[in-house]
Amino acid sequence: MSAPEVPQRIVRCPGCGGDSVYVTSNLYRPFCSARCKNSDFGAWASEGYRVASGPTPEESDEGSAPLPH
Ligand SMILES: [Zn+2]
Repeated sequence: MSAPEVPQRIVRCPGCGGDSVYVTSNLYRPFCSARCKNSDFGAWASEGYRVASGPTPEESDEGSAPLPH
């Protein structure tokens, strides 16, 4: 009975802040589950999309002055 001890790194899940086992078997590391990974990626993607959008076009109301009547 000499099972080799596999060191497990417990990291903090960026999604829920819970414990996540940082091992190769954990496909969602450093996240604890697919849900956390997807939610975090979604937030990141949406934020990046917002930044990608260019600035609003200039609103020039003073360009057309009302003619004196
Ligand atoms: Zn999590």
